[in-house]
Amino acid sequence: MAMAGTTLGKAISEATIEDFRAKLRGQLIGRADDGYDAARKVHNGMIDRHPRLIARCVDVADVISAVNFARENGLTLAVRGGGHNVAGFGTCDDGLVVDLSPMKGIRVDPERRTVRAEGGCTWGDVDHATHAFGLAAPGGVISTTGIAGLTLGGGIGHLTRKYGLSCDNLISADVVTADGRLITASVDQNEDLFWGLRGGGGNFGVVTSFKFRVHPVSTVFAGPILYPLEKSRDALRFYRDYMAKAPDDMNAFFAFLIVPPGPPFPEHLHNKTLCGVVCCYTGSMDKAEEVVRPLRDFGPPVFEHVGPMPFPMLQSAFDPLVPPGLQNYWKADFVKDLTDEVIEAHVKYGPDVPTVNTALHIYPVSGAAHRVGRDETAFSYREAGFTHVIAALYPDPADTPKNKTWVQNYWSELHRHSAGGAYVNFMMEEGEDRVAASYRDNYERLARVKAKYDPTNLFHVNQNIKPNGR
Ligand SMILES: Cc1cc2nc3c(=O)[nH]c(=O)nc-3n(C[C@H](O)[C@H](O)[C@H](O)COP(=O)(O)OP(=O)(O)OC[C@H]3O[C@@H](n4cnc5c(N)ncnc54)[C@H](O)[C@@H]3O)c2cc1C
Repeated sequence: MAMAGTTLGKAISEATIEDFRAKLRGQLIGRADDGYDAARKVHNGMIDRHPRLIARCVDVADVISAVNFARENGLTLAVRGGGHNVAGFGTCDDGLVVDLSPMKGIRVDPERRTVRAEGGCTWGDVDHATHAFGLAAPGGVISTTGIAGLTLGGGIGHLTRKYGLSCDNLISADVVTADGRLITASVDQNEDLFWGLRGGGGNFGVVTSFKFRVHPVSTVFAGPILYPLEKSRDALRFYRDYMAKAPDDMNAFFAFLIVPPGPPFPEHLHNKTLCGVVCCYTGSMDKAEEVVRPLRDFGPPVFEHVGPMPFPMLQSAFDPLVPPGLQNYWKADFVKDLTDEVIEAHVKYGPDVPTVNTALHIYPVSGAAHRVGRDETAFSYREAGFTHVIAALYPDPADTPKNKTWVQNYWSELHRHSAGGAYVNFMMEEGEDRVAASYRDNYERLARVKAKYDPTNLFHVNQNIKPNGR
């Protein structure tokens, strides 16, 4: 039997915990239970928190019981979808983790072109379900990320330019609020909450299911094209100009990276630092070669692996580079454009990627993502052209100093050219000012929504918006 009630923090009687356990269909894991160490882990190996209890919820009733238990017992409450958040918001010290990972129900409606997916799904789960119908929902660029955190923060990925951010494709969400009620948010139900959920993160409640619009995306023409470092300045300028003219069907993100030592990369490139793009073309396959040609003609590339592939194959192609448990230290910002000054900062720091897996990525925020107004959803930076993330990922904590130094110096050089704020899903815990800078004019409205749905800030383990504003 767990001794959770007698460990750190506010005393909660064993009887109270047992009463909670009896209300759950899912597992309740305490510090003395088998599997506690595995259950407390999140994706970022740098995060080492010890919650008092982890509730593995299997249904909405479990989520309601867990929210009520945390509130009634004054416990810190962390909500976990896919557990990918680099700041470690999917866990906490000494509180209750509401872990939705067992909640993986998915229903595709191919006629109406929608998918309803529960809050514990990853993008791989959703891709698997929708691909059977030749459909896809816009997610990120990795299949193991949770749909919940990614969507609630915005959601930038391979389909952003064609179909918008993940949150732009949200039709409705079922939410357990701080008072333990289940409500639905959509354009005509609890519209203020629906507005806040689309970019405002996990501030307003536990989303138990998401209903998305899905699109006819099945085979894409996609993959990486890598250039030598000597070409990095020209490659960045070329990328900027190419993206400015590219059709919305073409999404390409730019990277500085160390080539991983394994297939499909040829041996002579292993462990070499290169730059390049990963493209994803969703238009007609007849036109694909023509659209991709300029990227292939530039350079010339030292490596390319572009061709037709099922969309889920692209979404999971880079999963092996981001396994769970690596140390993750990230910093990010939006920029209006890749100006020559921004490019010079990249050329100065990009080539010094310290370890394999660590990388710089620049994602376009354009096309369909620009056709939504900056106050139409909580996600504010609609006019940003790009977001960069300087992402250190490495297995050995001894490599922390060199990775952190590189990330911080690189970020500082870029930050003076930034649009002012960052994409909340690419941020560590960076303080209130950074959160406010990410939401700009939308912050006060978010604070009002927060005050209405979570007046006591029960949901504060996130890029937190205070109920009373700042
Ligand atoms: C390897 C990797 C690749 C990534 N790639 C991309 C990418 O391509 N595009 C992109 O936009 N982002 C990307 N991200 C960032 C990602 O969007 C964030 O890390 C996001 O927070 C992950 O969501 P999650 O559900 O997996 O995380 P979690 O750690 O489970 O949760 C993240 C936040 O959301 C809250 N939350 C989680 N579930 C719920 C829920 N059901 N209801 C309410 N709140 C909830 C949590 O409390 C927490 O604050 C990536 C991250 C990693 C580590």
